[in-house]
Amino acid sequence: MSKVKIESKLPNLPTTIFTTMTQLANKHNAINLGQGFPDFEMDPVLIDLVTKAMKNGKNQYAHTYGFPGLRNVLAQKIETLYGRKVDAETEITITPGGTYAISNALTAVLREGDEVIYFEPCFDSYVPNIKVMGAKPIPIPLNFPDYSIPWDKVKAALNSNTRMIVINSPNNPTGSLLSNYDLEQLVEITSGTQILIMSDEVYEHLIFDGNKHLSILGHPELFERSFMAFSLGKVCHCTGWKIGYSVAPPYLMKEFRNHHQFNVFSVNTPMQVAMAEYLSNPQTYLQLAGLFQSKRDFFSKQIEGSFLSPLPSKGSYFQCFTFDDEVKCNSKEFAIDLVEKIGVATIPVSSFYQDETDCRVLRICFAKKDATLKEAAERIMNFRN
Ligand code: PMP
Repeated sequence: MSKVKIESKLPNLPTTIFTTMTQLANKHNAINLGQGFPDFEMDPVLIDLVTKAMKNGKNQYAHTYGFPGLRNVLAQKIETLYGRKVDAETEITITPGGTYAISNALTAVLREGDEVIYFEPCFDSYVPNIKVMGAKPIPIPLNFPDYSIPWDKVKAALNSNTRMIVINSPNNPTGSLLSNYDLEQLVEITSGTQILIMSDEVYEHLIFDGNKHLSILGHPELFERSFMAFSLGKVCHCTGWKIGYSVAPPYLMKEFRNHHQFNVFSVNTPMQVAMAEYLSNPQTYLQLAGLFQSKRDFFSKQIEGSFLSPLPSKGSYFQCFTFDDEVKCNSKEFAIDLVEKIGVATIPVSSFYQDETDCRVLRICFAKKDATLKEAAERIMNFRN
């Protein structure tokens, strides 16, 4: 068979670390604390609501902006939590997941030659999303070990091609949060410019130790130049449903929707109908912070005194750990070693940097059943290098 010649738009992409670690974990029948998804069951009430929606004939295309009932409930949630009245008609679009809410926004506004500042370590979809538009990713490494933003370096990277800054709080993989100071810096840098902001807030409800999520939704000035991405898979423990939403001011949302209508048109109907009813009870999302904080603490306590030392996790599904100096290999090799020797899969944080900067840190997902965390902790405690 003769192949047609194509020039890859994303050449030289390495196999993602998630694929590598998951394959390895499966091969060794390991406990997978690598990938970010819950291994516990979601609320059966929500499953019943989907069944009810299907039986009630909610099986055809939804509105292209999303089922109005769901958009209204989300607008209500936003007003209660962040004090902003968003217009469900012009400012919210339901998407097939948070990943798409990011990629579709970048598709809508980036052009060849644009520069996009983002912070490393970071979620793996940003860079390909930027590159595929012919734009240039400009990485700024976060300060180690507190993963704060070095604003002097951001300022030094700005130029007339800077079109966007991507932020992510609570952060994957670091568990860090943006502070009021960070938002002030963002205002200082962007006001009076043509710089847009992409704010990835998929872990908005997973905030620990009494901290507050500083959403762009609560910041009128930054809101005017921002796209925000959210994930209902994270809210309802159903990452496999791939459902989320985008929020942006009307002039940006109009552009977003121009692409959305041809990229996917609409998101599956029964799940939107079910989530509208489910999320009308605020307890569904208000109890998440407590649930995940107790999982974080449970796991940390179980592995106290082991070769892993925790870095603070203020939010998200994740906690990072540094490891003993006695371990002579790099973090990727060590993560592989841990799967092979004790059957626990983690993710080396070096994989979240384009140049694989290695601060000897592993990321662990604690969004797991207590039994899973306990078993993994026992294996870690028994590890001998
Ligand atoms: N952003 C971040 C930081 C994430 O961790 C994830 C999921 N791992 C997403 C976006 C994507 O969310 P979704 O699964 O809804 O596409």
